[in-house]
Amino acid sequence: MEMRLYDTLSRETLPLYAADGKRLRMYACGPTVYGPAHIGNFRTFSLLDVLRRTMEIAGLNPLYVRNITDVDDKTIKGSAKDGTSLYEFTRKWTEKFHADCALLDLIVPDVEPRATEHIPEQVAIVEKLLASGHAYVGGDGSVYYRVACFCEYGKLSHFHPEELQTQDTNSAGKANSADEYDREQVADFALWKARKDEDGAVHWPGPRNPDTGLAIEGRPGWHLECSAMSIKYLGESFDLHAGGEDLCFPHHENEIAQSEAATGKPFSRHWMHCVHLLAEGKKMSKSLGNFYTLADLVAQGYDARAVKYLLISSSYRSQLNFTVANLKGAESALKKLDKGINSLLAKAGIGREEFESEAIARADAADALGTPFGPAIAALFDDMNTAASLGALWNALRDDSSASRAALSALKTVLYALGIQPIPSKDEELGADEAPEEVVSLAQKRWEAKQARDWGAADTLRKQLAELGWTILDRKDGWSLKKG
Ligand SMILES: [Zn+2]
Repeated sequence: MEMRLYDTLSRETLPLYAADGKRLRMYACGPTVYGPAHIGNFRTFSLLDVLRRTMEIAGLNPLYVRNITDVDDKTIKGSAKDGTSLYEFTRKWTEKFHADCALLDLIVPDVEPRATEHIPEQVAIVEKLLASGHAYVGGDGSVYYRVACFCEYGKLSHFHPEELQTQDTNSAGKANSADEYDREQVADFALWKARKDEDGAVHWPGPRNPDTGLAIEGRPGWHLECSAMSIKYLGESFDLHAGGEDLCFPHHENEIAQSEAATGKPFSRHWMHCVHLLAEGKKMSKSLGNFYTLADLVAQGYDARAVKYLLISSSYRSQLNFTVANLKGAESALKKLDKGINSLLAKAGIGREEFESEAIARADAADALGTPFGPAIAALFDDMNTAASLGALWNALRDDSSASRAALSALKTVLYALGIQPIPSKDEELGADEAPEEVVSLAQKRWEAKQARDWGAADTLRKQLAELGWTILDRKDGWSLKKG
């Protein structure tokens, strides 16, 4: 059975395959490392992790390249504000990004190139484009891409250059600072930005100006790095390019234009875009107070596994509403998942350790399909429908015929693909549905007393709970219970 995925370029759901018959070559736009990545970024990275894992199960042998954007307006500004070098500043945020990825159990990409370590590759593309007339030196000394020279411009996003008011060239979505008189047309975008005072020490000797023969000092434009690094590690034509939906235009459109003009070959064959999330029903923003980072959520006592579960709980093509209530729902779903697996193992007479050991091997896709967990795999193969896959996983857990060794092998495959590992909790916190009614009612009363700032009453209720053998654990926005 083949794995199929919607392709933004052709607007069709197409089979995924490795053109070279060996490895499926996949590139994803990575983070800009100037601050903590937010959960919207991690929704894309978590979904791409499911994609990478499912491709592995489908036998596509993925070669996964995801870049680090370590030079742009925001990283330069951030390092200046911190009083550190761009290198130190972006290393610090790269490490934090990696720590978050580890908490979410995301598989490390095969190659994770940094923009600043690929300047010569970027300069070479600009020089090629200058030589062929696809690029020109603008009024401000920067090098621009001549969009009018690429008749297929707009084929991915269906945007037409003549409809454009301006070309955004930074990853913050802010308008290009270049005066429009610096460019021939508003649609043209910067390939190489001439050195400015505010760039401080951040500049390289760039492409040669064809008129003067002199190198143009400056730094690469944001779009250029992805073309240079994907081509370097995956070849001039590769199988799949992915990213968040906001990158489709202009970033990915520009990647196609500059790469195809430079190589004369089709760039990525297949394009995948993950739909962004809403937080508490609105677009996430710091001013609305609905801006979540993983570190914030973990500090509030939420389990990173639950964050991931919630992030992948809606398909990559539908919008997810990330709310605190949904996150609590994801936490209790994971507890039920752990319990469901435990009871299945008990039925099968297999211990937890044996299940986790190699004694129960992950089933390959074909074998898994024939078990009650088959529909959970099939849903991932069918345009990576993570929501349907989770639904099918729950159905199979309730199915008595799932307690066979073959089915348990298939369960391991599903859990691997989704990247959600159940944890048998020894020191389990219990939700309101598991503690006796009397205990829940006392816990609720104590919460209300705390909300009313009646510390005396809250303390008395805490002692009453302790006498009944329960500890109440405070959370930022509620409570949970622990035995003992
Ligand atoms: Zn990119």
